[in-house]
Amino acid sequence: MELLKGIPAAPGIAAGKLVVLKRADYVVHRREIAQADLNPEIERFRQALSNTHTEIQEIYNKVGSEIGDAESQIFQAHLLLLDDQIFIEEIVGRIRQERLSAEYVLSDVLQQYVSAFSRIDDAYLKERASDIDDIGKRILRHLLGIPHHSLQNLNELSEPSIIVAHDLTPSETAVMDKTKVLAFATDVGGPTSHTAIIAKSLEIPAVVGLGDATERLNDGARVIVDGYKGVVYLEPDEALSREYKETEKRLAKLERGLLQLRDLPSESLDGRCVNLSANIELPEEVSSVIEHGAEGIGLYRTEFLYMNRKELPDEEEQLQCYQAVARRLCPKPVIIRTIDLGGDKLASLLALPDRGDMESYRGWRAIRFCLAHPGIFKIQLRAILRASVHCNIQIMYPMISGLEELQDANGLLEEAKQELRDQEIPFDEHLQVGAMIEVPSAVLAADILAKEVSFFSIGTNDLIQYALAVDRLNEKTAYLYEPTHPAILRMIQHVVKVGHENNLWVGMCGEMAAMPACALLLLGLGMDELSVSAAALPEIKRIIRNANYEQAKLVAEKALSFPTGKGVLEYLQTELKKLSPEPVEEGA
Ligand code: PEP
Ligand code: MG
Repeated sequence: MELLKGIPAAPGIAAGKLVVLKRADYVVHRREIAQADLNPEIERFRQALSNTHTEIQEIYNKVGSEIGDAESQIFQAHLLLLDDQIFIEEIVGRIRQERLSAEYVLSDVLQQYVSAFSRIDDAYLKERASDIDDIGKRILRHLLGIPHHSLQNLNELSEPSIIVAHDLTPSETAVMDKTKVLAFATDVGGPTSHTAIIAKSLEIPAVVGLGDATERLNDGARVIVDGYKGVVYLEPDEALSREYKETEKRLAKLERGLLQLRDLPSESLDGRCVNLSANIELPEEVSSVIEHGAEGIGLYRTEFLYMNRKELPDEEEQLQCYQAVARRLCPKPVIIRTIDLGGDKLASLLALPDRGDMESYRGWRAIRFCLAHPGIFKIQLRAILRASVHCNIQIMYPMISGLEELQDANGLLEEAKQELRDQEIPFDEHLQVGAMIEVPSAVLAADILAKEVSFFSIGTNDLIQYALAVDRLNEKTAYLYEPTHPAILRMIQHVVKVGHENNLWVGMCGEMAAMPACALLLLGLGMDELSVSAAALPEIKRIIRNANYEQAKLVAEKALSFPTGKGVLEYLQTELKKLSPEPVEEGA
């Protein structure tokens, strides 16, 4: 039995067989081919092309019938590339002339194509570079005889499995089928990356930041993934497996017990109500939101509608989507956050940078992206406005860092409203608009921003990374990513104070809101709303219902006096234990 230590990303336990997605950067050595072997070598290349063709044709058919024609076009383009005679002849010609192996020539040609395409100053052609890279790697895999598990066929696994990968993007995670992917673990990544957030939403246990797990683990090995502790056990013994089965049963029972709170208000013992809402990324999560008793949706991350596709969603498609969500929640509110693309949420169709270029693009996302593409932004604003008729919808802008951004966004919203009025298309004239507070400058300028909005929602995932200079995606600095850091506590306190002085309600939709240890603190600091993933909601409700607001204020005051984040966390954990030593049991 071996223990691999990582970072908890999404709670839950899973035991099963591994499927390892090895890193796709293959090392290809220069290999010379004897004259007599040239024809068989070329034949080997043609065979690899043909196998790749069959593989892509299958994906094309499947995506076309199960997802849609627009999505399947990606693979149609891949098929065309595979048939490109100039590409094929260049490789065949070089194998013959230079007497080098097919994989070596192919890698070389691919490299040249990819770098030539990525230098072109045209978003569409730039995007072709990743198509060529993708297709090239598939051919290489056939030539090198490397078995391929890809995320496209993960959902066709012959048995439910646990996935280990170097990294997974949020869009790759979003399409995982939870009945097939029991859990996943990655070499890299941080606890509040969007990949981790989606795993929580989909209720797939996950561990990130394991280091070299893809090197050390192999297909078929048996593992236990503990998403609570952030560890993976390789080939666990009988005793440990039994222990985990018992833990799973106990947790399932606790969860059923917590669900009994579903229809009860999230109100402290002395009558302070905190609106408990849910975060969603995909419309399919609405059922879970309702099952867990949310009082609304406090953060709808709409950017996921723009991912895994080649064309932008038009106004009509967005309208249908927002309306479908809002109608199911009505009359409860749905806060639609305008797209926050960029950062770790990539949308290839928008020609945003790939991960290699990410460092220089940290701030190129969200409202900045939208203001630079007013056409795209206004389509979304119109769709949200139109969906607001007869539903309870609010709008929230991400990554506001100062007044101009907020005023410019509101200016475009006003334009969208005027267009609709001119076209006699109805919308909710009183729709509330809020700003996310997730950039340190927005905290300090909260009094200025407050004049332009109806509410603030604190996005701690980004606020912590920008305030503490700790990249939320990087496992190496994850130990510094402290929601209870004194500076963060002071920021939250300031935003609540300024918000309330300006008659705004103040919520929190970052992952900190879902930390049981922080619930008393946030209640005591006067938060009006907490928005968390659906599965995390009942436990937060249990704490609020067992707490006393006046006492929570004292806890918050004392927490603010500690000099370190660790000290605050220990104190809050002790207070939480004092508050409710006995969790809700099923049937209680
Ligand atoms: C946040 O930053 O806390 C937040 C809720 O936004 P996201 O996680 O989508 O960046
Ligand atoms: Mg954010």
